[in-house]
Order: sequence, then C-alpha cells, then structure tokens
Amino acid sequence: MQEFTQEQISALSAFVDSTRFSTGQSNRELHLSDESAHRGTLPAGIVWPVSTEEVSKILSWAYAQDIPVTPWGAGTSTEGNPVPTLGGLVMDMTQMDKIIKIRPQDLQVDVQPGVLRKELNRQCGQFGLFFPPDPGADASIGGMIANNASGVQTVKYGATKDYVMKLTVVLPQGEVIQTGCKAHKSSSGYDLSRLFVGSEGTLGVVTEATLRLTGIPSHHLAATITFDALQDASKAVAVMIGSGIEPAALELLPPQLIQLMNREKDLGLPEVPTLFCEFHGISKATLQEVESLARELCEDCGATGFRSGVQESERKDLWRARHEAYETIHRAHPGTQPIIVDAAVPISHYPEMIVFSQELVDENDAVGYVFGHAGDGNLHVVLMGDPENEQEWSTMEDINHRVVTRAVELGGTCTGEHGVGIGKRKFMQMEHGRSYQLMRQIKELIDPKGLLNPGKIFL
Ligand SMILES: Cc1cc2nc3c(=O)[nH]c(=O)nc-3n(C[C@H](O)[C@H](O)[C@H](O)COP(=O)(O)OP(=O)(O)OC[C@H]3O[C@@H](n4cnc5c(N)ncnc54)[C@H](O)[C@@H]3O)c2cc1C
Repeated sequence: MQEFTQEQISALSAFVDSTRFSTGQSNRELHLSDESAHRGTLPAGIVWPVSTEEVSKILSWAYAQDIPVTPWGAGTSTEGNPVPTLGGLVMDMTQMDKIIKIRPQDLQVDVQPGVLRKELNRQCGQFGLFFPPDPGADASIGGMIANNASGVQTVKYGATKDYVMKLTVVLPQGEVIQTGCKAHKSSSGYDLSRLFVGSEGTLGVVTEATLRLTGIPSHHLAATITFDALQDASKAVAVMIGSGIEPAALELLPPQLIQLMNREKDLGLPEVPTLFCEFHGISKATLQEVESLARELCEDCGATGFRSGVQESERKDLWRARHEAYETIHRAHPGTQPIIVDAAVPISHYPEMIVFSQELVDENDAVGYVFGHAGDGNLHVVLMGDPENEQEWSTMEDINHRVVTRAVELGGTCTGEHGVGIGKRKFMQMEHGRSYQLMRQIKELIDPKGLLNPGKIFL
C-alpha cells in the first residue's frame, strides 16, 4: 500500500494535527531503511503521535482500513526491524520523548518511548543513577524495548528486559493495556511485559515505560589485555567468566579492527588480539584484588600483556572507539554495505565460535571483522561487500548462515541482541521448533489481520 487516498488523508487529519502527518517524498524515503542493507516498500505516509490516546486512535483507524503500520524509534536497527515491508503508515515515535518522572527513591524512571538513551542517562546522572543497557547507537527507549537491546555492559548489568518494570502498550486494534507493576518483584500471572520486550513492534506500540535504574559505580578499573592468538583471548574470556569474576565489560577485538581504530583514533594499541576489560566496584581495594586474579587467569591462558590502571580519559577514548567500531569499519570500506552477523553461544563454546568464524572469513577471502561482547558469549562478524556483486554478497550470506547455524547447534541463538527483523526470520524455525508456531499463534491472537509491523519475525 503505497499511496493514501484523499479520503484517508482527510480522515487522519481529523484527529492528527497536519504538522505531524506527512505524505512528502523525502519523509517517506527517510523511513525506508535502517542501518542494514534491507530495503522496504515506500510507506504511504509518516505520522508522529504525541500521546497514548493519539496512538490508539491512529491504530484503530488504520486497522479498520486494513492499513499496515510500522513503529519507528531512532532507525538504528541492523536487521531491517523498523523497515516497512508493505508500505502503509510509519508511526515515528520521536515526538513522544518526555522523561515523565525520575523517582530516585525507587531507583525508577517513567518515560515516553521516544526518549534517547544518552539523554536519559544524562538526566538520571544528576541523581547518581543510570540505565545500563548501552547499544553503541543513541537508540530510543521504545526501540530498545522492542529489540531487547543490550551492549558492552550487559555482562554485568543485564539487557533491556532486566530493566522494564511496567509498560503502557497500545494493541493493534487500538486497545490500551498496562503490563507489569512498579514493585521490585511480582509473581502475578503471565509476564506480559516480557512478551512485549523483544516483540519488535509486532504486537503493540509501547507508549510509556517504567524502567529500573541502578547506581553509577564509584570506582572503575579498565585494562587492555593482549594475546598472540584470537583463540587464547577467547579462552581467557571463558575462564574469567567461569571464575566468578564479574567484569562490567569484556570485549574481544581482532588485530584487523585494532589497526583501523589506531589509524582513525590514534590509540597506539598493539595490533594483536586484545580484550578490553572493565571492572566496577565499591572501593579501590576490591578492584585491585579482582585485577590481580584477572591478570593471573589471563597469563595462564597465554596473555602477552596486561595493562591496567588505564586513566579516565584514555578509558573513555577506548570505549568511544569500541562503540564507534561499526562506523570505523564502514568508513574503511567506502561504497560497500554490511551484513552484521550477530549470534550468541554458551560461554564455554565461545573460543570455538570465534575460531570457526575467523576461519570462515579467511577461507572465503571475505572482508570481515570478528569481534563481540565476549563476556556474554555474543559475537559479531561485520562483513562488508557490494550487494550488486552477486558472488561477493552470496559468500557473505553463506558466512552469515554458517555462523548462525553453528551457534544454534551449540545451544545458542541466531540473534544475541539485534533482533530478528527481516534478516533472521529464516533461522527462527531452526532455533525454536514448535515454539515458533506458538509465537505465530500469539501474533495471530493479538493481530489477526497481521497489520502491525508486517514481514518481521515471521516468514
Ligand atoms: C553503530 C551501531 C551499534 C549498535 N550496537 C548495538 C549493541 O551493541 N547492542 C544492541 O543491542 N544493538 C546495537 N545496535 C542496534 C540498535 O541500535 C538497537 O537494536 C536499538 O535498540 C534500536 O533502537 P531504535 O530506537 O533505533 O529503534 P528502531 O531501529 O527504530 O526500531 C527497532 C524496532 O522497534 C520497533 N519500535 C520502535 N519504537 C517502538 C515503540 N514505541 N513500540 C513498539 N515498537 C517500537 C520498531 O518497529 C522496530 O521493530 C547497534 C546499531 C548501530 C547502528
């Protein structure tokens, strides 16, 4: 559905201010793709709602008219998650960006979904609090909830699902519901908040969320640990996590990526397999104990260097470089598009997965960088190539397929954090078996016409 009739435009204008609805070509094109190479079908129009009531009216009208609706956060997904596949209406949530109330006494905050995570943390920081899930991009809270986003600190603090307490959700036909509560614990029936977290906007539109916050740690210790072989570095990850040491971040980087980062950010790091590691604690003394155990374990795994005591400004530079790794890779390969492989395995299989993935890249002579949130058993292979070059692109897709299949065979998942979107649909049956059928039944129950974010999660 790529064009609205004049009648439909007039109907929508009756309950949405004309400044917040557009059928202009440039707005439609801006909502055609996310950060992946997946392209959708040009939407007929974009609407920017400002309240739960308005979202409800729009959804109920669109449902009656058989118009597909795709929610849109900040558009930073990497699997085509917010890309409209059937045109229709894109519901851009960026104007619902209020931090309604920070309640430091409860360690909670009530927000609208369009709030960006960096702004949320800036404001919560004034109370010594923060919202830990940290995808590299400045994502919206609604998009993070819908994708169950996580990031470098998930190894210690958990993913978005661990911070969602209560949601206001508008269902596809316009009904408004509340899920969860503001109490720290509850065993009251099905956990519906968890159903909406990770549902990628296919079951409802989140219009308000109560999130848990946590205290900003008083002491940090960062270290860079170098190895001769990627396998030794990934083994050290499994050993450290297995020892009960709780890093706040534990990232694996290959020499090829360090090389790009050095070139772009002048970091001066040795260009060898490296772990970026950070610990958070209540005192210097506890961190020093943790550090000496980490050093011992890494040396046992073959570490050739362990540099700790990284100063605040250098620590920030390292994490900024890590957060910008995707952009750095993009800039190093102009004119290409990425396939970002995202998979996760139980930690004991991490070394095997890393070696398997690197060998695939090497054997196929592909442009690919194997790295990841190692402490979570989460790996990425960022493959760069030209979608117009059939052979190159199909090699990249084959690598994606083989890495994901191996991860699932090892008891892991086809997506550690980026969600299913369009790109991972083909792996869902393999990963979930009969449960995939149940997911489909849930979708059919809540959205019988299949109009909310169609073409995602399900083939
Ligand atoms: C450089 C870079 C680094 C990244 N690193 C990470 C990382 O480390 N970890 C990680 O998890 N992700 C990462 N991502 C992916 C991405 O940032 C996250 O998935 C993020 O959560 C997407 O949020 P968004 O606001 O951009 O949502 P969008 O991409 O706009 O939408 C995401 C999904 O949410 C739905 N949606 C949006 N708003 C709502 C709403 N209010 N109600 C219901 N559904 C809604 C959309 O329909 C879509 O399905 C990275 C992306 C980039 C570009």
